[in-house]
Amino acid sequence: MARSCNDIRDEFIDFFVERGHSFVPSSPLLPAEDPTLLFTNAGMNQFKDIFLGLVRRDYVRAVNSQKCIRAGGKHNDLEDVGHDTYHHTFFEMLGNWSFGDYFKAEAIAWAWELLTKVWGLDKSRLYVTVFQGDAAEGLAADDETDGLWRTATDIEASHILRGNKKDNFWEMGETGPCGPCSEIHIDMTPDKSGRSLVNAGDARVIEIWNLVFMQYSRGADGKLTPLPARHVDTGMGFERICMVLQGKHSNYATDLFVPIIEKIETLTDHRYGARPSAANAQCSNTQCSTGTAGAAGDPSGCLGTSKADPSGGLGASPSSGLRASRFDAADMDNITDVAFRVIADHARTLTFAIADGVLPSNEGRGYVLRRILRRACRYGRQYLNIDGPFIVKLVDTVVGLMGGAFGELCSRRDYIAETIGEEEVSFGRTLDRGIDLFQKQADKVRAAGPKGPQGTGKCLGGEVAFDLYATYGFPVDLTQIMAAEAGLEVDMAGYEKAMAEHRELSGAGKAFQAAEILDLPATDDSAKYAAAEIDAKVLGWVLGGAFITRGLLQAGQGAAVVLDRTNFYAEQGGQVGDCGAMQWPGGRYAVTDTQLAGSGIVHVGSVEAGSLAIGQAVTLTVDPRRMDTMRNHTGTHLLNWALREVLGEHVNQAGSVVAPDRLRFDFSHNQAVTHEQLAQVERMVNERILADEPVTHRVMPLAEAKKVPGVRAVFGEKYPDPVRVITIGGPSRPGGASACSAEFCGGTHLKHTGQIAALKIISEESVAKGVRRITALTGRAAIEHMLGADELLRTAAGLLRTKPEEVPARIEAMAKEIKDLRKAGKAPAAAAAKEFAPEVALSSPVGPVMVGRMDLPDANAMRAECDRQRQKGAAGLFVGAAGDGKVMLVAMVSDELVATGKMTADQWIKAVAPIVGGGGGGRGTLAQAGGKNPEKLTEALAAAGKWAAKALG
Ligand code: ATP
Ligand code: MG
Repeated sequence: MARSCNDIRDEFIDFFVERGHSFVPSSPLLPAEDPTLLFTNAGMNQFKDIFLGLVRRDYVRAVNSQKCIRAGGKHNDLEDVGHDTYHHTFFEMLGNWSFGDYFKAEAIAWAWELLTKVWGLDKSRLYVTVFQGDAAEGLAADDETDGLWRTATDIEASHILRGNKKDNFWEMGETGPCGPCSEIHIDMTPDKSGRSLVNAGDARVIEIWNLVFMQYSRGADGKLTPLPARHVDTGMGFERICMVLQGKHSNYATDLFVPIIEKIETLTDHRYGARPSAANAQCSNTQCSTGTAGAAGDPSGCLGTSKADPSGGLGASPSSGLRASRFDAADMDNITDVAFRVIADHARTLTFAIADGVLPSNEGRGYVLRRILRRACRYGRQYLNIDGPFIVKLVDTVVGLMGGAFGELCSRRDYIAETIGEEEVSFGRTLDRGIDLFQKQADKVRAAGPKGPQGTGKCLGGEVAFDLYATYGFPVDLTQIMAAEAGLEVDMAGYEKAMAEHRELSGAGKAFQAAEILDLPATDDSAKYAAAEIDAKVLGWVLGGAFITRGLLQAGQGAAVVLDRTNFYAEQGGQVGDCGAMQWPGGRYAVTDTQLAGSGIVHVGSVEAGSLAIGQAVTLTVDPRRMDTMRNHTGTHLLNWALREVLGEHVNQAGSVVAPDRLRFDFSHNQAVTHEQLAQVERMVNERILADEPVTHRVMPLAEAKKVPGVRAVFGEKYPDPVRVITIGGPSRPGGASACSAEFCGGTHLKHTGQIAALKIISEESVAKGVRRITALTGRAAIEHMLGADELLRTAAGLLRTKPEEVPARIEAMAKEIKDLRKAGKAPAAAAAKEFAPEVALSSPVGPVMVGRMDLPDANAMRAECDRQRQKGAAGLFVGAAGDGKVMLVAMVSDELVATGKMTADQWIKAVAPIVGGGGGGRGTLAQAGGKNPEKLTEALAAAGKWAAKALG
């Protein structure tokens, strides 16, 4: 039997554990170590600090299988996925590491031993590459590695190739550890002719394993110095090695993917790889359907087998039953097959990413995930004709395949499915209409469209792309992909223009917006954090789309003034721009907003008194409400911290507004936050306020700042280098609690949390799928809010004539009373019908005569019920009700009974009413009486029965 992929993973890990390596579990896909990294994209991410010499672990050799996503940022394979057979958005990277322990000799010997001895790969199909050196860097060729391949392994010398800096020199970043690497490639051509295809981007010869040898450190000056402790970092594509060992030519033909593809087939009429393999680009290249070593059609035959492995070489002996499946023979150019691969790949990525706390959203990682989901959705609908949500139906299959190795999938299965399902539903609604619109427009363009901007092809209008974006939620790159598939281009300049116009229309286009393109003089705003009054000089103002540097600005005139320096904070990072005043002898300009405009800062407002001249020296005073803004800003950081403490690590900032009167914080979270959780968050924040923690800021190099423990950054935001880090709490204060929050932030903050006074959450709501919004108040506003709430309660208590603390109980009682009354008023007949059970029932020649209690609220209701009983056949009725110190009697006798001359209603009432201390009267058929002794009702009814019995004789 062929090895299963799960076996292969274990074999890799066991091999290195037997050689003294510690197994280290995969780190999450959300890189905790590096807030600016999009997703974990290599095995080494979690060990970076060890390489940098910042931390030590209690092991010097490690092995693992790391979850990786390469769908954005530096490594982005998204567009290739589906169109080839060996790049995924999500994949596992198998790796072994040495931290200052063994080096090249062992790494090379073990890699070779595992591949050729343990796994029995055919040596003549393996190529290795070695760094050829780089004159410009003054780096010699890596002859050491070259020599080791020759002496420590039995690889054919002609299979050792040289590679340039791009392919064979690895660097962690601009600075830091780096060194040569040596890659291992597999040749899957049928005749082993792939030598020239190494590193040529050909699916027949691909890289499977990269061995990196860190032996230098690049300093800030760009110079390389040898590292005292040298490290090994290797990465092998798990899906690729599974493909090789299972004798396949496509990662999608391994048991990691086949069950997912089969599941997709149950949702569509299409079949994967249904086209004959002759049409198959992959197979026609490799001619594996006429393989030489195996049974005809067995692709493993193409790869040959090694004598060293008795089980049949590549893990799949020709007789193992692994047929040349249609999964392997899938057509590269057939869009249906591409769709299957896209969906199978993306279902895994979505499942793993959501399990690790990434949620589809409009920003950063969440946006990447949303794009991945939408790409899969679109392929499913467009090419496989699948209606409705379908990725959600693949979650169980993915969890079933991978849950054994990654337990987090099992424990979060429902959460994953729910998230994917909801996202699909919401996207599905707009997708159908969008595809329709796209198709119509594309047809139109194809028929008679203008040439593309470069004259290279036909071009889809920018307004169409914008409409698809604004109305149907198609990100423009999705439209570009669809257009490319339809042989079209998108007029991107037109798209940008439409977008800009839209911004203008939607009100975001402010008076000074033209300033951005005016190339304003730079403003020195270094005084903004202190905010104390400063003096500055007027350089000019933006008015009517131009930067004016001559003349006067008259009283009443509005503009956007540019100064040489300012202490005003320009809107940034969610904090609103400052308001305040600009004064000069005899004049005053009120600033209502401050905004960035290129390198300049504009003070939006108008002249209140006097006139303003170019070159005028002015005094700038920031509105004291800035202090309230600062309370809200520092409060926002505390809120961000507490939310994650209470709700979990998946909480990430998705947007914020910090204004003087309130703060608003959007964050990723998939369900409503309960009252208890909100209360806990408020308590934690207010505890920190009470503790009067210091708020400190430090400006440090970005690379260093990223290493601050627990530091948070808003993903997708571009941070300057050096960057400002705001820390709340921390060891800087003797005896103080340790730092609770560290964020990259350029905003203005308080010096101590105590200055916030209090934080009060006033609402929690949903803004988008998976994104919640909290609005909160601090300082005076929070206190006013609490006083207002108290006042409200007092007023309510007054109206209810009770004490504030008894309001809920009183309301509860009232609600019950209202409910009871409503019930009684609405359905008296029905209630009575249930209740009326006569105590005496006599027969007369014209029907039954009955006596009994009928506890209804009034005589009207009793008469109505008596009528009902009479319609049902009663000839005589005597009923009584008691309550509230009163008694009510009603007698009714049918015409027929009256006609017999035996009894009348008024006689009956008159005979009985005195017993309850009352009197009454009426007609022969209907009479009624009231009395004062409810306790006598039973006696009265007994008497009524006796009287009737006697009358009827
Ligand atoms: P390639 O050139 O094939 O894209 P790479 O140079 O980007 O590979 P590395 O960054 O060296 O690859 O990663 C180590 C190993 O991880 C590679 O040898 C390969 O086997 C695997 N790998 C890299 N990217 C992917 C991917 N998108 N999907 C699956 N496996 C991958
Ligand atoms: Mg790559």
